[in-house]
Amino acid sequence: MPKRPLRQQMLARRRALSLEEWLASSRLAQQNLITLEEYCRAECIALYSPAHNEIDTAAVLAAAFLDGKRVLYPAVCGREMVFRQVTGLDCLEPGCFGILEPCSTGVEHAADEADLIVVPGVAFDPSGHRIGFGKGFYDRFLGHPDRKAHLVGLCHDFQLIGAAIPAEGHDIRMEIIVTDMRIIRCGSNRSRTDGPDSHRGGY
Ligand code: ADP
Ligand code: MG
Repeated sequence: MPKRPLRQQMLARRRALSLEEWLASSRLAQQNLITLEEYCRAECIALYSPAHNEIDTAAVLAAAFLDGKRVLYPAVCGREMVFRQVTGLDCLEPGCFGILEPCSTGVEHAADEADLIVVPGVAFDPSGHRIGFGKGFYDRFLGHPDRKAHLVGLCHDFQLIGAAIPAEGHDIRMEIIVTDMRIIRCGSNRSRTDGPDSHRGGY
């Protein structure tokens, strides 16, 4: 199925979740995420503010503070995203699209600072391909050549589909996908879908 109808179908299904379903799924998916070796080793992680029933990240934020990690959140700046350090949920305020963003006074961090980036998505496939809201913000940010972070897609289990997502050359693949029911390791995150790196092996 092409990206656009798949996106609409998944958004509708996610919109239909009850508060109880969202809470339960969020709790399990976040628990799974913090068991990852890549999370445990990370000194600095990037999270996202959940919108439209995306898996919550507040429990990961709380765990990361207890674990002494630095935590970054994205803010939209024109066509790009910038990441700023957050020291509590009170550092977040409604920004672009009404999504909570770190206050503009926060220090900006370069793309290569996070050891692990938790990426939201509308749909993922087991190879790590991702469909977002259709604006390409994460693809542009994650395409940065200095990035060293492990990329983890976080979603409800129904968002991880069996069929291959029709990814394009600019789409950045996830290395790991975590849901409320599964942890899928997809292979190297160093490549764009059809970029030259994807022919160099490693997965
Ligand atoms: P999403 O990833 O949110 O589902 P798409 O992958 O369909 O969205 O990308 C949306 C738009 O963003 C596309 O028109 C694409 O050309 C643009 N885009 C994505 N990544 C880049 C990039 N690295 N450089 C320039 N444009 C990009
Ligand atoms: Mg994309």
